[in-house]
Amino acid sequence: MQNKFKCEPVTLITPTALMSPVVHGGRAKCLQRLVRLDMPVPVTVALSFDAVHQIAIGEMPDMAAILAPFGDDPLLSVRPSSEDPDWGGPSAILNIGMNDARYAAMCTSIGTSAATALYLKFLRSFAVHVSRLDPEAFDIPANADEKTLAHMLEAYEFETDEPFPQSVEVQLGEVLRSMARAWDGTTARLLRQAKGAPADAGLGLVVQAMALGVGEMISGSGVIQYVDSATGMPQITGRYLGQSQGRDALGDVKGAIYLTKDDRGPSLQDRSPEVFAALLAIGKTCREKLREEMQVEFTIQNNNLHILDAVRVQRASRASVRIAVALAEDGIIAREEAVMRVEPTALSELLHRQVDPTARRERIVTGIAASPGAASGHIVLTASEAQASAARGEPCVLVRRETTPEDIRGMHAAVAVLTMRGGVTSHAAVIGRGLGVPCVVGASDLVIDRKKQAIVAPDGRRFNAGDMITVDGTTGDVLAGEPAMVEATLDQTFRTLLDWADDSRDIGVRANADTPADAQTARNFAAEGIGLCRTEHMFFEGDRLGVMREMIFAGGGNDRRAVLDRLLPMQRNDFKELFRIMKGLPVCIRLFDPPLHEFLPSGKAGLRDLAEQLALPVNTVTDRVAALSEYNPMLGMRGVRLGIAVPEIYEMQVRAIFEATAEMAAGGNDVVPEIMIPLVSAMREVELVQAQIDAVAASVRAEKNIPFTYRLGVMVETPRAALRAEDIAKHADFLSFGTNDLTQMTYGLSRDDAGRFMSAYVQQGVYAEDPFHTLDVEGVGELLSIGAARGRAGRPDVVLSICGEHGGSRTAIAFCRAQGFDYVSCSPFRVPVARLHAAQLAIADKLTGVA
Ligand code: PEP
Ligand code: MG
Repeated sequence: MQNKFKCEPVTLITPTALMSPVVHGGRAKCLQRLVRLDMPVPVTVALSFDAVHQIAIGEMPDMAAILAPFGDDPLLSVRPSSEDPDWGGPSAILNIGMNDARYAAMCTSIGTSAATALYLKFLRSFAVHVSRLDPEAFDIPANADEKTLAHMLEAYEFETDEPFPQSVEVQLGEVLRSMARAWDGTTARLLRQAKGAPADAGLGLVVQAMALGVGEMISGSGVIQYVDSATGMPQITGRYLGQSQGRDALGDVKGAIYLTKDDRGPSLQDRSPEVFAALLAIGKTCREKLREEMQVEFTIQNNNLHILDAVRVQRASRASVRIAVALAEDGIIAREEAVMRVEPTALSELLHRQVDPTARRERIVTGIAASPGAASGHIVLTASEAQASAARGEPCVLVRRETTPEDIRGMHAAVAVLTMRGGVTSHAAVIGRGLGVPCVVGASDLVIDRKKQAIVAPDGRRFNAGDMITVDGTTGDVLAGEPAMVEATLDQTFRTLLDWADDSRDIGVRANADTPADAQTARNFAAEGIGLCRTEHMFFEGDRLGVMREMIFAGGGNDRRAVLDRLLPMQRNDFKELFRIMKGLPVCIRLFDPPLHEFLPSGKAGLRDLAEQLALPVNTVTDRVAALSEYNPMLGMRGVRLGIAVPEIYEMQVRAIFEATAEMAAGGNDVVPEIMIPLVSAMREVELVQAQIDAVAASVRAEKNIPFTYRLGVMVETPRAALRAEDIAKHADFLSFGTNDLTQMTYGLSRDDAGRFMSAYVQQGVYAEDPFHTLDVEGVGELLSIGAARGRAGRPDVVLSICGEHGGSRTAIAFCRAQGFDYVSCSPFRVPVARLHAAQLAIADKLTGVA
């Protein structure tokens, strides 16, 4: 924790009290800010994280000190105050202090029915949340009266063997204890950890005098916010409910009215233009002074406005970008701060798939859209099946009547969640949003046939466990099968944010792009070039595979050349297309890498087909395939080894690259292609290939009579290449670290087989993380630093980059920045996220004076 100062366990919130979000939580600190802004906040006391932790382990604070500022017979509320309000906390409890005597007095002051409603509400929340009694026994009927209250008090006594506590001190003590303990529960912990909270995150509590919201003149409560949570666009949203408290107005309740004038019904603006104007002014002040879009909880008591609480507006990813950009555009925060405020993961959420609007939608049922995005998976009906399915690597949709805390691990494992019951604030909805899992709730027309392990649509269609369905959490639809999906594109606000990010960024971001479609995506996301084009992917397309196979079976060099001549124009067009799309940005083309057997069929039927295709006897084909098979192909004849042993492939590829370059130049577009050699482990390999490439370049220049240059690079993906980088760099303009193979070879861990034991290894702490997902800074990282330093010793201006799957991750970008690399290269859809990570790291360094 930063800034943690020695503090009292209990602090009265005043403008000058010593308070901090890391000691008292964000809500308490925010209330102090509101007090400083002279907002009408009722008397509030904050309990520090330490105090709450002590309560959880049974050490109660000085209750008299907590109660002192509230005077005699107070009526209080308690709310959670975690360091980051997004980490959540137990629900607020209102009207602590209600007891028989108070009730009797209130029956006179505000009327029996209002007093009864207050006492009942408190009794219910105390019974359910504090004494943990069965909620059904404390359901408040619509026609509740004094008798209901008497029954419920009896029910409480029956269930607990104790009368309902009458002392405010006892009531408050119990509320504080139950909230402190709830924070340590598994559900709360998993939820907040999913939102980035550390395992030991603290909880503060705020105790506040109640502003009643019931009484004479205009009295009631409401919630207002000034932007739309989904889009971030300015829009007043919220509700007001006369004679109510807390967040009552937001429920589906009769009598709740609009805030602004509205044709559909009455509004607070009509009822009390003064209060409405005051609320608008409060919103403006919050935005300007708290530098944030806030949701404000207010109560009007006898025409007087009270501000009980203000929290950061909950926001969808799209809104988080728009709000940050708008605050910066209005000069309220700096651009750099806007960049820091958007979670890179939020950006990646925006890039999540949605159902293609043009796809046929075979709707099974519609429920409430509770968590946006769409995902397809096999139906599973229990959380444990969801976990098993995820362990098998099969995407699944968890379908439940409703979810409970026991389902949380299953929800984690599922790609989407569907429930029959619940609304936007139900367990499934809240957790789904928290985890970023698409979720539809309240699909009440759907029936689960547990016995037959199926779900039944309203029209009688059955879908069995294991069948594929799609949950569209953006629209609330549940669809049969797997409709086509589209990726979201960045709108102008995202572009603005990313442009600002680029202003701070000090490391390049390129894309790994193998096809024109990838290249186009890379450009759309403003990648600064292609950092890795895996050319072999081009050979699997259309009829090229057949030509490749013919080449593999060709008798000798000349025959191979003849076959490869048929691939040449296709490759030339591939490269021209990439150059055209990238419009002068660098394009790094990696020469052929995989072992040849990857192009050959394995089964008998496939071999027979191939024999037919090549007009060869089956046994000739079988013998050739057997001759090509290797015990350990990933360490066998692939990459540069193949380039040297079967030079015709590289010859064809570089000719295609140079002819494309010459044709681009003839069209007035100068291109300097980057050619990269894979799997190098010795300097001599580079010398040999370089001589070969130079010879082809010279002949294309002569044939076309067009001058051009190229840049030669080496992919450093064997440990030896990293160790011999000094020699190697003497022949290379650039070195790009292929951390996939480098991780594989550094650990001696097969990329393709590690999954079998990886989770056991991570669970038992053998590896902190899967090193294929998170760059192993300690081990593989050391090879990168050695490679970088030695590469620079061999050639001071050598360009350094990383192009393994790690390239877009924060860890890898932080590492590459620290090592002074020139760029990272990652898959096209990770480019925006990588740009934001890179900018945030640069800004963070600037703020801490590292840069
Ligand atoms: C690598 O090894 O890191 C790499 C980028 O190449 P590939 O994944 O194609 O082996
Ligand atoms: Mg590799």
